[in-house]
Amino acid sequence: MTDSPRIHLGSLLRSSTEDAHVEGNLDHLQYEQGRTQHTLRFAESAPFEVDVNALGTNEMYLQGTFEPVLVMECARCLREVHVPLEITLGTLLRYEPSVETPYLEEAETGEEMLVFGDPDLDLSAYLAETTLLGAPLSVLHDESCRGLCQVCGHDLNDGPCEHMAQVPVEEIDDELGIPAGSLHAKQNPFASLADLKLPEE
Ligand SMILES: [Zn+2]
Ligand SMILES: [Zn+2]
Repeated sequence: MTDSPRIHLGSLLRSSTEDAHVEGNLDHLQYEQGRTQHTLRFAESAPFEVDVNALGTNEMYLQGTFEPVLVMECARCLREVHVPLEITLGTLLRYEPSVETPYLEEAETGEEMLVFGDPDLDLSAYLAETTLLGAPLSVLHDESCRGLCQVCGHDLNDGPCEHMAQVPVEEIDDELGIPAGSLHAKQNPFASLADLKLPEE
């Protein structure tokens, strides 16, 4: 198990004839974003493979694969959902000795470019960002997930709570066919208040 995925690019930077290669398995990815530590959890050991070839002075091309089973939360009831992803990596790299934390920027061609300053390149943030880009924005543990009661937080998949008991049966059935995107607006009783224009005092 590799704790932080690193690729050593020192010899590639010295002589552009050699390619660099790294592979391993990750059970999570820790990365920093806006000075906060974040963790992506994987349901099983996630294999990655990365090759880097030189393109010119201080520029390289990274390619490879990453196949994590990302642990996400059901958008309605918050229970764990395992999302298998097959990610193809392909990114330009640029070495700039003054850069402390690797970051992605848009190259002149419109392609994404990973800029880094440490030849012992930590791929954590890059792999995390690529994973998040490849993952769905929200998932449901089941298409017919009933979600949580908005009053008491009870998981309605386990049966109704006292608040649901007052809702007529036909209304509950209506909820089942609603696509994920519209659920929030339908279930949130205050959604329509957002459009309301209050008179200025
Ligand atoms: Zn659910
Ligand atoms: Zn309730």
